[in-house]
Amino acid sequence: MKILLVGAGLSGAVIGRKLAEAGHECRIIDARDHIGGNCYTRRDPETDVMMHVYGPHIFHTDDEEVWTYVNGFTEFMPFQNRVKSTTQGAVYSLPVNLLTINQFFGKTMRPDEARDFIAEQADLTIEDPQNFEEQAMRFVGRDLYEAFFKGYTEKQWGCSPTALPASILKRLPVRFNYDDNYFFHRFQGMPKDGYTPMIQAILDHPGITVELNTTYSPDMAADVDHVFWSGPLDGYFGYELGRLGYRTLDFERFTHQGDYQGCAVMNYGDRDVPYTRITEHKHFSPWESHEGSVCYREYSRECGPDDIPYYPIRLVEEKALLEDYIAKAEATPGVTFVGRLGTYRYLDMDVTIREALDTADVFLSGVTSGTAIPAFVKSPR
Ligand SMILES: Cc1cc2nc3c(=O)[nH]c(=O)nc-3n(C[C@H](O)[C@H](O)[C@H](O)COP(=O)(O)OP(=O)(O)OC[C@H]3O[C@@H](n4cnc5c(N)ncnc54)[C@H](O)[C@@H]3O)c2cc1C
Repeated sequence: MKILLVGAGLSGAVIGRKLAEAGHECRIIDARDHIGGNCYTRRDPETDVMMHVYGPHIFHTDDEEVWTYVNGFTEFMPFQNRVKSTTQGAVYSLPVNLLTINQFFGKTMRPDEARDFIAEQADLTIEDPQNFEEQAMRFVGRDLYEAFFKGYTEKQWGCSPTALPASILKRLPVRFNYDDNYFFHRFQGMPKDGYTPMIQAILDHPGITVELNTTYSPDMAADVDHVFWSGPLDGYFGYELGRLGYRTLDFERFTHQGDYQGCAVMNYGDRDVPYTRITEHKHFSPWESHEGSVCYREYSRECGPDDIPYYPIRLVEEKALLEDYIAKAEATPGVTFVGRLGTYRYLDMDVTIREALDTADVFLSGVTSGTAIPAFVKSPR
């Protein structure tokens, strides 16, 4: 069959590869001048540092099949994300752990003592937390909430934490040991030469053609059997019902001779610092050495029509509009909406790959059995 895949990010590449291996003819287009979508990495021409162009990407998963899959296309180096936070005039370890708690309160507590101490801090007058702020106050109390959650959340989401659902904080966001590994997953790493060569290798199949600087137009679908759409769900319909809300990011690049901050990611918890974090890219490749350094100051704001959509907002208003777009998509035969934009969800890379592999399986078995391919293999709800 002839397949058109819109987007040469992980979703398009992984689905295209699996369909090409099954003998289908895959044309992958992308509006950008490079492959890789938001996972795109490239060397900085000035410093030679490997840049995570659309923000820092750390690979982490518990999905062994996905881990084997990515390792089949590139070499991964061990990497664990250890984030720090500058807040209220001091530097702390994140996620909030025993070191953070002891340092913040000037104590030397052991795990059980810290657990009791935090339980005392917690605001138990809040019986049924109605929003993010109440949930955080109930879990960790005002002091830790204000130092590590309030300002950062306000900057990240551009609204008061009282306007965000309590469900964002599902569990107690604190560790009572000294584990500062940001992710819990069994497999974690960084591709030795960045993500772009990995995605290039996935795309490297005789059944796949890639066209860059090519924006989708409806006539492209005329002579193909099926379309996989990894662009914005509302964008497919020309935003005719309105735009699904996103946050976008601005990266302010600056260079430094030597080591600017000594770690890859430094968060800034205080509200009066306008950026949320600084990333120093060379620390994502600790096996390399570079004299120069490139950093990004990261600012979060509402996404306008000409900005890159990064984080779906998914509050009540957006969810109502999402339902309308889901209905339109389900009434559109021959198109399957995939990936982070196509399903309007935040997806880590491992989840993106897992869903892309599953989507390709659903397509292939649908072709064999003659059943219709759904608009969504993974529900956007
Ligand atoms: C700031 C940030 C940090 C992240 N950090 C991590 C991390 O540390 N670890 C992790 O696992 N995941 C991380 N992620 C998630 C990761 O970026 C996604 O999982 C991944 O990019 C999803 O791939 P995708 O192919 O679905 O979407 P994308 O990468 O967005 O690809 C979609 C592609 O479609 C193209 N396109 C859109 N519309 C059109 C059109 N009309 N015509 C032609 N082409 C079009 C776009 O140009 C784009 O290249 C992060 C995401 C963000 C935003």
